[in-house]
Amino acid sequence: MGNRLAEIIENVKTRDDLIFLLSVKEKEDLLAVFEAAYEIKKKFVGATVFYRGIIELSNICEKDCYYCGIRKSNGNVFRYLMDEDEIVKEAMWAYNAHYGSVVLQSGEVKGENYIALIERVLKRIKKDSDGKLGVTLSLGEQTGETYARWYNAGAHRYLLRIETSNKALYAKLHPSDHNFDTRIHCLDELQRLGYYTGTGVMIGLPGQTIDMLADDLLFFKKINVDMIGMGPYLHHHETPMGDYFTLETISNDDLLQKALLMIAVARLFLKDVNIASTTALQSLDEMGREKGLKAGANIIMPNITDTKYRGSYQLYDNKPCLDENASMCRGCLESRISTIGEKIGYGEWGDSPHYNQRNAEK
Ligand code: SAH
Repeated sequence: MGNRLAEIIENVKTRDDLIFLLSVKEKEDLLAVFEAAYEIKKKFVGATVFYRGIIELSNICEKDCYYCGIRKSNGNVFRYLMDEDEIVKEAMWAYNAHYGSVVLQSGEVKGENYIALIERVLKRIKKDSDGKLGVTLSLGEQTGETYARWYNAGAHRYLLRIETSNKALYAKLHPSDHNFDTRIHCLDELQRLGYYTGTGVMIGLPGQTIDMLADDLLFFKKINVDMIGMGPYLHHHETPMGDYFTLETISNDDLLQKALLMIAVARLFLKDVNIASTTALQSLDEMGREKGLKAGANIIMPNITDTKYRGSYQLYDNKPCLDENASMCRGCLESRISTIGEKIGYGEWGDSPHYNQRNAEK
């Protein structure tokens, strides 16, 4: 390992440092970055994995993001919205399995019926779990008023990826009525209301450079996030990405390495935040999520959506665990995690030290 690399790993500060780390290619250097990130993870957040059981409650979406399989214009998707009892039942399954928290995710739906449905679901989950099950929402862009209603009903975390912090690339990935500044405004609102706030980007997007990824990391720092959820961009065959970009042919191995490196550099740079090892990593490699943990991530979001809906929530091609039910996923995950010598933080919310500190300073 060169001296410069060793020095930067010790003290990642500037944009140039980030670009340097994200450009590392030699096997030995990559290993040094991953190992250092793992040490920082152990020191700041520990070697405990926290589960967030993800419930994909609806694939109905008003948005038309060019990369996403459940975009409004995809007519080949069977659209569903779970009912209140189904959502609560799945959340309580997670509670009884000692998951500390769940994530309710869906396409973007607005309107009073939907807002009130989520509100009722939140209240029921809180009541039925004696306030113990943590709830993260990932329901897209909403008004500050809606975010406040859901916060008051019991949600305390929100995940809204910025997708890319580069405004020009954002504009190329979305139709013109999707607005980067609105997304920033939503993140501001969430933080103002007191939500533990997560954001993230897709890695390996066509047109995305290493400099842009470095800027993504600076963006996370600037907006003071508590959690980061990022994963590789994976093509979905029914999306128009190829109409707008020349799709690069990057091998699965190279894409996985890029995503893992981004996780590791995020850990070295931001230290005390939570970082998810996302399902998209698992699409590239059966052990992708475990590799993410070894690169510095500390959160896994097991899919607990009823299998009858999973085929309809295909954000990208080859999404894994399509026909496994929630408990099968649980069993296979648990043994994989113990293989890498980590334990699972059952029954704990597992908020990041960053969030706890931010709150203590208020
Ligand atoms: N409607 C919510 C949830 C979106 S789905 C919202 O807007 O926040 C969750 C995430 O899946 C998205 O934020 C996006 O980053 C990711 N995603 C969508 N399509 C993808 C693809 N083709 N490859 C990889 N990730 C994708």
